[in-house]
Parts: sequence; C-alpha cells; structure tokens
Amino acid sequence: MSEPLLRVTGLKKHFSVKGGLLSREVGRVHAVDGVSFAVNRGETLGLVGESGCGKSTTARCVLRLVEPSEGEVIFDGHDVRGLSGGDLRAMRRNMQIVFQDPFASLNPRMTVGAILGEAFTIHELTSSASERDDRVASLLVKVGLKAEHMRRYPHEFSGGQRQRIVIARALAVEPKFIVCDEPVSALDVSIQAQVINLLEDLQAELNLTYLFVAHDLSVVEHISDRVAVMYLGRIVELADASELYRNPRHPYTQALLSAVPVPDPKVKRKRIRLQGDVPSPMNPPRGCHFHTRCPIAEPRCKESAPELKQGSDGHFVACHLA
Ligand code: SF4
Repeated sequence: MSEPLLRVTGLKKHFSVKGGLLSREVGRVHAVDGVSFAVNRGETLGLVGESGCGKSTTARCVLRLVEPSEGEVIFDGHDVRGLSGGDLRAMRRNMQIVFQDPFASLNPRMTVGAILGEAFTIHELTSSASERDDRVASLLVKVGLKAEHMRRYPHEFSGGQRQRIVIARALAVEPKFIVCDEPVSALDVSIQAQVINLLEDLQAELNLTYLFVAHDLSVVEHISDRVAVMYLGRIVELADASELYRNPRHPYTQALLSAVPVPDPKVKRKRIRLQGDVPSPMNPPRGCHFHTRCPIAEPRCKESAPELKQGSDGHFVACHLA
C-alpha cells in the first residue's frame, strides 16, 4: 500500500488559560491530547465526537490554522510543522477546509464571482479576467450551480447553495486534501444528503482525500471509509466504517451508536444513557478519560490510560476491557 497522504503522530494542543491581575497562567485546556492517525489517498476518514472533544482543533492543527503544541504532521511527505513562508503557502494550496457555517464563511459584500475569482488571483492561477471568469463558471457548474450565479451575492442563495459555493471555493486551487468541518450541520436534513452526495461525486471525479469532522455518527457513516471516535482529546476507537457500526467495541462508541436511529423497524437497539457530563478538558480525569461515565469501569481504569491498540482485524480500540 502507498504511503498515506496524511500521517499525524502524537498530536497535542494545549491552550493556556490566563487569569488574575497579572494575567498569569492558571490552567491548561488539553484540547488534543496525543492523537495519531493516517488518511490514505482518495479515502475519507470520519472524525467523530461530542462538542468540545477536540476534533475541530485536531483538524485545524493539521492545516496549521492552529499551531500544535507537540506531535508530527506529515502531509504528502512533508513535515507541515517545519514549513514557513512560500513553502507553507504552497502546502496550504493542497489542503483546504470547508467550514460548518456557509452563512458566516462568505463575504456578503462580494459577488460569488469575486469570491471564487479571488482564489485564482491570490495563487496566480489565471492570466486574464476572461480566463478567471471561465474557470469560475466551470467551478459553479461542477458543484451543481449555474454559470450566471457568479453575478449574484451570497444572500441570494439558500443554505445548501451557499455550502456548494464554499465547496467550489475550496476546489478552486485544485487541492489534494479537504477538511470538511461539520459541513452539513447547519443545513436542513433534506439538504444534508445532497451536499454529502456532491462531496462523494467530487471525490470520485477529482481523487480527493477528506477528513470529515462531525458530531453525529449517522452523518459520517455514509461518506466515510474509516471512522475515528474522539473523547476528551483522545481517539478511543478507529476502524473501517462498516466494522465500527456493526461491531463497536469501545463503551463510548457503543453509547453514541445506541442513540442513532435504525431505519429497519425490526431492528431494536437498546439505548445506552451515559451518566453525567463530559468532564472539563482543563482538568481531565486521570487514567482513562472516560472512566467517570463508563458503565463498565474498573478500579484500574482510574489509574492507567489505555493505549489505542490494533486488533488482528485492523480495528483500533483504547479500552482495558475491549
Ligand atoms: Fe471504560 Fe475502563 Fe475501558 Fe475506559 S478503559 S472505556 S473506563 S472499561
């Protein structure tokens, strides 16, 4: 098998919390606490977990929109953390992001043509205004919109159409890799499937690689080849999507999946209700971060953190009892 397009090893991101008159450090938020994974070329890795588990921070560290505290990020053979200046700009061309909120991520004062054309201008990808307009028109058609839409403003579009524009902007620079950060969470359920189908079609056509971040396991099931589940800054389970949904081994994944509706009325899934709230990432529990809510926790779970270990079938789990 070829080298993965992205390999992340031991990634950590700690934010310092300042307080008091002298604005001294009074604590640290362990947003990402030693995360390792790889994304193969042309695949989609789903990254799932509750709000605040560190999934979006992980994605932003990969793109260096946030500086990691520790760890290694290798993209297409290059150490992302070692890049600066022109090399970092060149790398960023290959790594794009689609944010959750299409309403906030488009400048309301610019036409769609200007928004998309900006990417060509910044990266000097076109040599004339007419060439730029031609490329904007073909991008719009590629994402299911019309060429004449380039003269309109973002507020003239629906939420789903705006997210198509955001996707078109990400595609403008012909990236290899796109972080999709909750790209359908702000959309109506009826529109979500259309945007996911578009992302899948574009992936097949352009051989794109996705890191698809979501809080909802049912959203990533359809699009992901593999899924990683995060809890309080750590990956607790990682497996092929079908295997993970059929055979979840970590108690946290089992609880998350028990809340996902099953379309077949004959299949009954017992709902597992977790007690308590997710602890603060400023003061995560010792040992297994999940032990304060785990229904099968043992005394040793409070003392030692389980490693993310690979089973014989390529299914990774971080649990003393799995
Ligand atoms: Fe639960 Fe212990 Fe496994 Fe953590 S290590 S998930 S607390 S059984």
